Amino acid sequence: MTILLFDNSYAKLASTFYRECNPTPVANPDLIQFNQTLADFLGLEDLHLERQQEVLAGNTLLEGFQPIAMTYAGHQFGHFNSQLGDGRAILLGEVIAADQTRYFIQLKGSGRTPFSRGGDGRSALGPVLREYLLSEAMHQLGIATTRALAAVTTGEEVARDQLVAGGILMRVAKGFVRVGTFEYFSARNDLSSIQQLADYEIEHHYPNAKQEENRYIALFSGIVDRQAKLIASWMNIGFIHGVMNTDNMSIVGETIDYGPCAFMDGFHYQQVFSSIDRQARYAYHNQATIGQWNLTRLAEALLPLFSDDTGDEDKDVKAAVKQAEDILNDYSKRYKDYWLAGMRRKLGLLEVYPQDQELTQELLDLMHQDQADFTLVFFYLSQDDKQAQLMALFTQPEKLAKWLEKWQQRCVLENGTEKERKAIMRSANPVYIPRNHQVEAAIRAAEDHQDFSVFHALHQVLQTPYTLQPDKEQYQLPPKPEEVVQQTFCGT
Ligand code: AMP
Ligand code: MG
Repeated sequence: MTILLFDNSYAKLASTFYRECNPTPVANPDLIQFNQTLADFLGLEDLHLERQQEVLAGNTLLEGFQPIAMTYAGHQFGHFNSQLGDGRAILLGEVIAADQTRYFIQLKGSGRTPFSRGGDGRSALGPVLREYLLSEAMHQLGIATTRALAAVTTGEEVARDQLVAGGILMRVAKGFVRVGTFEYFSARNDLSSIQQLADYEIEHHYPNAKQEENRYIALFSGIVDRQAKLIASWMNIGFIHGVMNTDNMSIVGETIDYGPCAFMDGFHYQQVFSSIDRQARYAYHNQATIGQWNLTRLAEALLPLFSDDTGDEDKDVKAAVKQAEDILNDYSKRYKDYWLAGMRRKLGLLEVYPQDQELTQELLDLMHQDQADFTLVFFYLSQDDKQAQLMALFTQPEKLAKWLEKWQQRCVLENGTEKERKAIMRSANPVYIPRNHQVEAAIRAAEDHQDFSVFHALHQVLQTPYTLQPDKEQYQLPPKPEEVVQQTFCGT
């Protein structure tokens, strides 16, 4: 057996950043899924060892693991909570992977930590399966995300609305620092920790900021850019995060904390799935604006680092605020550019023309009116022989026909051939997404009948979401009326 090398940089930070905390062993762990490809990439082949499930459940700690629960705060549905932190997650350690990048390995559902407050530190099986399926699907769809390395059942039950089977997810991220981590120190006026954390992020995730005149402003600008890109990619694919609290927004720019998230079937701007999002704060169409709101909270926390010290404090603060505002205003433009670039690819457009925004908007408006299936509309558009099926998704096909004509006229302005345009479209419009009803069916079979075959089959299809696979039509289809999932739950 080779020796696993862990390089735990976060545990080297000051003790205010985390608490040491071991996972609580579970009765009888059993493997559901192990991501061998990811393990190989991380250099963790040896996790595939005898009694592997003991390690994956946190019952056995490998040499080099240094388990900690990270400290953070956060705005939850607009309200500030100054003390959150990893209540059901434990960071085990960090590895440098094949791409020379640092990856953080965490258990979710591994027992109580000093930040568990009233919670049990556990996770039900359902949310573990949901996060596994959705995060891996997002990765294969090409969207920045935390990954799933393994999922196990615990052999124990957890108390939710009723007693349900417990599960543990081993997940991997380029970083687990959140907007809420900065807010934690800001709420305590702990400027030295804010600076330490900012330096840490620059060192590990935004090294280019070091060359800039004010490295912290450059850091902020980098974070803003990655969020604009990330949220645009969600919008391009019909993904609704569901709980965009500042503690669920990652500084490194990955999709994180898959709770009641979901992909839309029928397109609707105001679509919400999460049972706890009663005001529709995190509806599909609000996501970009919420991103900016969250980044404003980050700017407030970082503000003391933006000031130059010219001796005139009033002037320095004003200048710092102005810098932050400029970057926040720029977020809207960056978001729109990323979003439109993504939509152009979906429509097979490589050149840039001023009418593209309106053209895209008109299609989305038509889809919204009929709640046409988001994924199928773009899939059919990207095929050569699916005109009839496309038309059937709309109640007023003549309106769509007019739009198709406009799109054709726009396509004429392209330099590439139709074949090239279709190839672009097929690389931007998935055939398969983790549809809500399919995810729900996988969870039901596992929770109710200890049958993981539905989960495995769905997971397999989602490995190559842009490739049409034989005999997998059922995974392309929207739910039948009786299969529609109206609400999703955190299950925490
Ligand atoms: P979330 O927004 O669902 O990611 O979680 C918000 C906060 O609640 C985080 O600090 C979590 O660690 C904590 N939390 C969620 N579920 C539990 C649980 N079952 N036990 C302890 N803490 C939890
Ligand atoms: Mg969270």
